[in-house]
Formats: sequence, C-alpha cells, structure tokens
Amino acid sequence: MHWGYGDYNPQEDPINKLDRRSQTTIFRLRTGHCGLKKHLKRLGLADKAHCECGSEEQTPEHILQTCPHLETIRQKFWQEETSVGAKLWGPADELRKTADFLAATGLRI
Ligand SMILES: [Zn+2]
Repeated sequence: MHWGYGDYNPQEDPINKLDRRSQTTIFRLRTGHCGLKKHLKRLGLADKAHCECGSEEQTPEHILQTCPHLETIRQKFWQEETSVGAKLWGPADELRKTADFLAATGLRI
C-alpha cells in the first residue's frame, strides 16, 4: 500500500509492526538523518559526501538502489527491481527486508 499525499496516518504506518531496532533503521533511512556520508558531511562529521564506491553521494537511495559494492547482498533480498518507495514506505514485510538488508551490509546508520 502506498500513501497518497496528505493521507499519511502514523497509526496505520506498517513501521509499527517492526521491532524497535528495525523501526529505527527505517526511520533514519526515511528522513536521511542517519550515519550515511551525505548527512555526516552536512553536519561537518565527514570530509566527503561520497560513498566508498566513489560513484555517488552516500544517501539512503544510493545504498538501497545503486551502490555497486552492495549489489550481491541486495540481490539476496530483492530478486526483482523494487522501488525505494516500496522499500521505505511499503508493507511491513518489505520494511523488514529493508532493515535486514541494512544489517547485512554492516553499515552503521
Ligand atoms: Zn556506493
């Protein structure tokens, strides 16, 4: 299910079905306020916003969708193309997968 503009209801957000740790992961990825480089750079805590792979800024979308270093892990979780919207705002199963993927990458966010 996807939220249309203006009808977001926090009570019905499937994030509520996740355990606390996964909730935190999803919440940080949604807001972009996380330990990824793009945000750390903004806070003056990292020299550069670019990901280790060197191709792009390290944003939640980069990690979830395009980072070449994470391709193998990503394919274990998603065999077919899945939008970043589904990964962060989709049903609880999808959110859980996203949180597990992040744990598997070993990235601290
Ligand atoms: Zn990367």
